[in-house]
Amino acid sequence: MNWIIWLVAAGVLGNALWLRRRVTGLRRLRPERSTSPLDGYTALTAEDAAVPDQVLRAAADHARREGLGMLDLVPADLPVEQALDLVRHVDPRAYRKDRFAMGRGAGYAVLMAGDALERARIEPRSGLDAGEMGEALVRLRCYADTADMVVAPFHAPDRIGQRRAWLRSLALALPPTVAVPQTLYQSGAGCLLALCCPLIDLWQGLGVVLLYSLAPYLIFTGTALRPADLHRAAWLRVVHVPLTIWRTLRAPRSRWERHRLQLREEARARYRAEIEAGVERFLGERRPDCPWCGSRNLAPHLVTRDVIQVKPGRFPLERCRDCRHIFQNPQVTPEGLDFYYRDAYSGLGDLAAERILGGTTGDYLARAHLVKRFTTPRTWLDIGTGKGHFCRVARTVLPGTDFHGLDMGEGVQEAVRRGWISRSFHGQFLDLGTDMIGHYDVLSMNHYLEHTPDPLAELDLAAKILEPGGFLLVEMPDPDARLAAVLRTFWMPYLPPQHLHLIPLANLKRALEERGLEVVAEQRREARRGLDVLPAAACLINLLGVDTEDPWRSPHPPGPAQYARAAIAQLLAIPLLGAAILADLLFLPFQGSHSNTYRVLARKQSG
Ligand SMILES: [Zn+2]
Repeated sequence: MNWIIWLVAAGVLGNALWLRRRVTGLRRLRPERSTSPLDGYTALTAEDAAVPDQVLRAAADHARREGLGMLDLVPADLPVEQALDLVRHVDPRAYRKDRFAMGRGAGYAVLMAGDALERARIEPRSGLDAGEMGEALVRLRCYADTADMVVAPFHAPDRIGQRRAWLRSLALALPPTVAVPQTLYQSGAGCLLALCCPLIDLWQGLGVVLLYSLAPYLIFTGTALRPADLHRAAWLRVVHVPLTIWRTLRAPRSRWERHRLQLREEARARYRAEIEAGVERFLGERRPDCPWCGSRNLAPHLVTRDVIQVKPGRFPLERCRDCRHIFQNPQVTPEGLDFYYRDAYSGLGDLAAERILGGTTGDYLARAHLVKRFTTPRTWLDIGTGKGHFCRVARTVLPGTDFHGLDMGEGVQEAVRRGWISRSFHGQFLDLGTDMIGHYDVLSMNHYLEHTPDPLAELDLAAKILEPGGFLLVEMPDPDARLAAVLRTFWMPYLPPQHLHLIPLANLKRALEERGLEVVAEQRREARRGLDVLPAAACLINLLGVDTEDPWRSPHPPGPAQYARAAIAQLLAIPLLGAAILADLLFLPFQGSHSNTYRVLARKQSG
């Protein structure tokens, strides 16, 4: 049995060294006596942060010297458990280098360059609680190209009472509510394993308990952080950690949590009324023919359900036997789309969407580089841009290009305020695009066409707008992906009911060529987006009820039954997601030249 003890000891030591490596990535603010005002920077501070003006000025000097758009001040005496939470969730070295990282920090005080606080519409500028600061960090990071955190000499009061809100507000996990159990399981499991060791072998086991207790010294000694409670948190660690978990769970709701709860319950009342009226009414009339080729030779393909948000409803997909086009039939009505899109990319789902859309930088870079191989456009319109996350990344590849964005969501206006696009069009492309003839060198439709009721009309208009030599970039789920047939409704790219059409690549290429658009590049395997089995497993866990928050899932606020269900789903998630990753790796070699996505670049021909 001794090997178990050695394994736990190695785990405790390895974890401590990993955390120490991250802590050493935090730099200390130089203690100089700065006399210059904040000049060019504005501070956002928490209600429990007493940051001396002197420190703010020195921090502004530091930010100016380093050319930072955003600087989070980490209190030098940050308590042990909060300091551990910080480095558990962010590697300061990587954060400094990653231009597109999610906003992170300690959440006591942050400096923003220029008018970023105004553009982000963050009010008030002081007196925020932990959750409000966390949410502000995530939002503000989108208004700065460069960000860092620095350890500064000011006092951090203990914030365990707001830890739950803090962990949730940062969208550390998907869904964001899972960040709390994830963090608590992580710290609780370490403690429990160490405490089990003396039961196996008393003296060796006590050695592991001692190692576990002293780990905070190993993590923090000689670094920029000097936690105020270091000795207590270390020597009493086997009591301190469980107590911290208890306090995290039992703390009264913070102001930020009460506000979120109010939004959720307001939404619940509206969803309840809509669901009671019957969601079947959100499906329109079934059409007898294929929207792509007009054939009446249709076959049932699959009946899907919403496995992401888990809103009620069933959505039949049909397949054309002649052209292989797959489409939702009957289609969800505009009223239904309003119901199903609500809180997906904005509202209650805002922070989660930020994490999802901000997490695929590699795909965005690949798209921009593909276009750059053929042209250096002066103007580029991204159709269905959302909040402009793609343009944020693409403009670093094509710094001379003027990016505009079009979307039916209001987030497109925020994209302008964030500086990711220079002009926004709010509405439908078919309504707005007719005035755009000759205005753009490149049009892009990334994961857009499958959401539109009439993709052929969209392509007609795109072809009309482009001048000869102009380019159209299309990226979309590939319905020929082999795993689509295996995973069925759990294959993420079906994204029911948002995806109304799934277009085989051959069909799209023919449609482009019929409109005078010559395909100059196509990518299938290279266009892969993430994995397939892993998101399917995540959807399954989602369906089991891992998130107790979603107001459309129950007419009443969550009770003990929902929390128990969520706990079971969280525990099942560990083996299930592990097995899913393994399955994905095993399937990869058998997917031929396909993946779950394809990307096509086409050039408008003259004449
Ligand atoms: Zn057809």
